[in-house]
Amino acid sequence: GSNDKKILITGGAGFIGSHVVRRFVTNYSNYDIFNLDALTYAGNLENLKDIADYPNYTFIKGDIVDPVFITQLFNKEKFDGVIHLAAESHVDRSISNPNAFLYTNVIGTVNLLNTSLGLFRNNPEFIFYHISTDEVYGSLGSHGFFKESTAYAPNSPYSASKASSDHFVRAYGETYGLPFVISNCSNNYGPNQFPEKLVPLFINNIIQKKPLPVYGDGNYTRDWLFVKDHARAIDLVFHQGKKGETYNIGGFNEWKNIELTQLLCRLMDKKLDRQAGTSAKLISFVKDRPGHDLRYAIDASKINKELGWEPSVTFEEGLELTIEWYFDNKEWLDHVTSGDYLEYYKKQYQA
Ligand code: NAD
Repeated sequence: GSNDKKILITGGAGFIGSHVVRRFVTNYSNYDIFNLDALTYAGNLENLKDIADYPNYTFIKGDIVDPVFITQLFNKEKFDGVIHLAAESHVDRSISNPNAFLYTNVIGTVNLLNTSLGLFRNNPEFIFYHISTDEVYGSLGSHGFFKESTAYAPNSPYSASKASSDHFVRAYGETYGLPFVISNCSNNYGPNQFPEKLVPLFINNIIQKKPLPVYGDGNYTRDWLFVKDHARAIDLVFHQGKKGETYNIGGFNEWKNIELTQLLCRLMDKKLDRQAGTSAKLISFVKDRPGHDLRYAIDASKINKELGWEPSVTFEEGLELTIEWYFDNKEWLDHVTSGDYLEYYKKQYQA
């Protein structure tokens, strides 16, 4: 097209990326949106079938770990901005296969940074937006919150790889003057999430009357954010965030895993017309994950004050929307829970 801006979104076939791609393609017909994704087990073009034919949308299959491919792509398209979400994203998988996280999350990010250097010097508008996680900050006790100034202390191979990529982005800003912005977000839930993550795993298991594996004593505490609220925050930070800054994004919404699970069980009993208490009988405590962080809690007051962002739905509303979506999209769930997923599930839970 002959549009105002060419934007590369990486990892757009994944969970969060698909919501970001849809938002940008439908809200900004004056931008050309390129979705670059390797389509790993977590990438699924079904997530975007409703916008696949939009004239301002282009899908490119490719691997960010391949520097030759990335260089050719950037030389050809000369993007005005990059929103980088492509990553290996599942903590449990990072424990069994850390190298995949090193390659995609660290080396893949550095490849994108290197090629971005060739663009920003001729383009004052260029920005590299790196999407990251609150897990880089490590674990909190029962008090306090992660702020943008909190020191990094990653504990899992996943969070170590994300922390490393955040550092590289900042260092390219300091060393080469690359214009960048970073945001670190808490746990997302919502439509299109692969059912290895807690909320969709438990929705699927409750439907099938399978056990709900809760780690340790269930007291792990996380902050939860509806994925569309994250996509809206990303839109704001991309357009209005100050260059060189970090923004923490969170739901002001802390839950212990066991309490979240009980809430989900109550909502699912209602949805399935099962007697109250039926789904909660499926809860089964399993051996703890090694290096498990006790509590994450994010202070999202900076993005709230500076950019006016806040979540649009409560946790109950967001969970109800999510349950609704998984019921309306059984085919999606059937597709992603066949094949490789079954192998993974067996290994992970010895089911
Ligand atoms: P996801 O696993 O659902 O999607 C990741 C996407 O990246 C997939 O489509 C996959 O095919 C693609 N990908 C993986 N390796 C690639 C490679 N080498 N080259 C090109 N594409 C590749 O992940 P998600 O949950 O949507 O997370 C997206 C981003 O947001 C990640 O950077 C993650 O660290 C971050 N994040 C996630 C959460 C969360 O709760 N899910 C919270 C905060 C931050």
